[in-house]
Amino acid sequence: MRNNHIAGEWLSASNAVANVNPSDTRDIIGEYAQASVAQTKRAIDAAYDAFPAWSRSTIQARHDILKSVGDEVLARKDELGRLLSREEGKILAEGVGEVTRAGQIFHYFAGECLRLSGDKLGSVRAGVDVEITREPVGVVGLITPWNFPIAIPAWKIAPAIAYGNTVVFKPAELVSASAHALCDIIVRAGLPPGVFNLVMGSGGVVGEAMLSSAKLAAISFTGSVPTGRRVAEACISADPMKRMQLEMGGKNPMVVLDDADLTLAVECAVNSSFFSTGQRCTASSRLIVTGGIHDAFLAAMTERMNALVVDDACKDGTHIGPVVDQRQLEQDLSYIRLGQDEGAKLVAGGELLKRDTPGFYLSPALFSEVDNRMRVAREEIFGPVATVIRARNYDEALEIANDTPFGLSSGICTTSLKYASHFKRNAEAGMVIVNLPTAGVDYHVPFGGRKGSSYGPREQGRYAAEFYTTVKTAYTFGGYAP
Ligand code: ADP
Repeated sequence: MRNNHIAGEWLSASNAVANVNPSDTRDIIGEYAQASVAQTKRAIDAAYDAFPAWSRSTIQARHDILKSVGDEVLARKDELGRLLSREEGKILAEGVGEVTRAGQIFHYFAGECLRLSGDKLGSVRAGVDVEITREPVGVVGLITPWNFPIAIPAWKIAPAIAYGNTVVFKPAELVSASAHALCDIIVRAGLPPGVFNLVMGSGGVVGEAMLSSAKLAAISFTGSVPTGRRVAEACISADPMKRMQLEMGGKNPMVVLDDADLTLAVECAVNSSFFSTGQRCTASSRLIVTGGIHDAFLAAMTERMNALVVDDACKDGTHIGPVVDQRQLEQDLSYIRLGQDEGAKLVAGGELLKRDTPGFYLSPALFSEVDNRMRVAREEIFGPVATVIRARNYDEALEIANDTPFGLSSGICTTSLKYASHFKRNAEAGMVIVNLPTAGVDYHVPFGGRKGSSYGPREQGRYAAEFYTTVKTAYTFGGYAP
C-alpha cells in the first residue's frame, strides 16, 4: 500500500483503493491508502502547528526547496510522465509534457519567492507612512481533479509554499500515483514536518473533513460545477468564512471565420477538441463556423479525424488515449445519444473501440447541424465530443460564442486583424486565443475564467499571490510631523 503523508510521516490506512490503468484495466498501478476523517484532521492540525514557523521562514529557504523539487521533477520527467499516462490515459508525449510543465512551475515559483513585493505610499496625514505588505494566509486546502494529475497540483502547491502557507493536499481518487510521487519529491526536498501533507481519499470523506475544519483558512479547488458549489457553500457558511478559489467547467467556443487558414483551423480544432481525449477544461467543444467555410471545414475535420489513432496511451503512434474510466465513458456515450435525439448529426466517431488491451476506448465524435440551445452545446461533456454550429457571419459567431453559462477560454481562427482585435475585447472569457488551440496555456501568466467557470482570484503567474497571500496595510507615525 502507498501511504499518505501526514505530520512528516508516511501513514497507512485501513482502506486502500486500486489505481487502474484505463488503457488496460488488468494493469493495477498500485494500492493507495485512503485517509480517514481522523487522519485528515491530524494532517490539518499538523499544518496548523507548522504554520507560525513556516510563515516566517526565509525566502531563500523556500526558494531552495522549490528549486530542488523542480529539479527532481524535470530530471525524472520521462518516468513520471509514463506513470501519469498509465494512470490517466493521456498519451506519453502529453504525460511527459505535463510533468515538464510541473517542474517549470516549481522553478517559476522558486523565483517568485524572491520577488514578492509590497507598496510604500505617503499618507494623507502629516508625518505618517503607509506600507502595504503581503503575508501568508494560513493552512490552505488544495482539492484537485484527475485530468491534470501533476500540473494542477503543482500550480496550487508551488505558490502556496512559496508565499509561506502550509498545505493539506487532496488529489482526485483516480490519480493517486502522480500525487504520491510528487509528494515524495516535495517532502524529501527539506520542508519541515507538517508544512506539506498528502491526504488521499474520497471527496465525501477527506474533502468534506477539509471543508468542515475551522483551521483551514482557504480552499483552492478545481473540479466540477456541482462540487465547486458545494465547496463554496461550505466556505461561506464556515466560521470564520474561508477564502476560496474555484476553477470549474467550460464549454469553450472556437470560432472559425471564412477568412481563416483552413489547415490551421482544423489543426487547432482537432487539438482543442480531442487531444488529451477531450478531458481538459479548456477544450473547445463548440466549433462555431461561418457559412463560407463551413462545408470545407467539416470535410477537412472528418478526414483529419479518420487519421487519428485511438489506442493505449503509452504505445508509440497513439494520438488519443482512452477515456479515464467507465463512469466518464458512460457519460460521454449518453451525451452522444442525447445529441442524436436532439437532432444533431453525428458526422464522425462516437463509437466504442476494441483494442489489444481492455480499456475505455472511444473514437472522437463530431456533431454537425447543432443548435447552440441543444444540451450537447450547453453542458460540459468532458470527453472527445465536439459540436459544429453554423453562423451567418462574425457578429452572429461572437454572439453564439458568448451565449453559454461558462467563460473559461474562447478561441478564434481568422486572418483578419479587425475580427481578431474585436474578438479579444468582446469574448466573455478569462482567456482568449487567436489562431492557436484553446487548450494550450503558458505557466507564467494568469489562468482562470468568468461566469460559471471560475470564482475567486486567478491561478498561476504572479497573480497567484492574490489568493495565496493576504494584504496588510501598516500606518506609522514616527513622532515628527513636518
Ligand atoms: P470530477 O467529476 O471531474 O471527478 P469532482 O468535482 O467530483 O470532479 O472532483 C474534483 C475533486 O473534488 C476531487 O478531488 C474530488 O474527490 C473532490 N470532491 C468531490 N466531492 C467533494 C466534496 N463533497 N467535498 C470536497 N471535495 C470533493
